[in-house]
Amino acid sequence: MQLTPHFSLAELIASRTASVRGIDNTPPPEVLARLQATAQMLERVRTHLGAPVIVTSGYRNRELNVAVGGVTSSDHTTGQAADVVAPRFGTPTQIARTLAPHISMLGIGQIILEGIKGKQWVHLSTRVPPVAANRVITITDAGVRLGIQELT
Ligand SMILES: [Zn+2]
Repeated sequence: MQLTPHFSLAELIASRTASVRGIDNTPPPEVLARLQATAQMLERVRTHLGAPVIVTSGYRNRELNVAVGGVTSSDHTTGQAADVVAPRFGTPTQIARTLAPHISMLGIGQIILEGIKGKQWVHLSTRVPPVAANRVITITDAGVRLGIQELT
């Protein structure tokens, strides 16, 4: 099932951990509606970057979220977030720096540049966090910092 021209439902619910552990990550109807909005946001991001956007993790039900070590309040559990990379555009840092100035125009609620255990990606959510300063943050093994920061 195609949600938008470049993003399918399968891509937004796929999980290696889910298949390995036999977790059924099929979204309930209310999540499906949010995934549609997430896909539309990703479509705008793809257009802005001018390069394919690859989703590495989208919807995660509670069980799957626990299995991958996600935080309990994660927007992934409501279908409002996707972790992405875009190697044909650039590094996650370059993606985050390019998107951050246009966050509202692109309908992005929150951008998190993440560098955890040697991996890097950009977390994009349609949900605006309660504290405005948290709309653009960087999370590394060392902790959380405001804005887009060096991943070292
Ligand atoms: Zn994420």
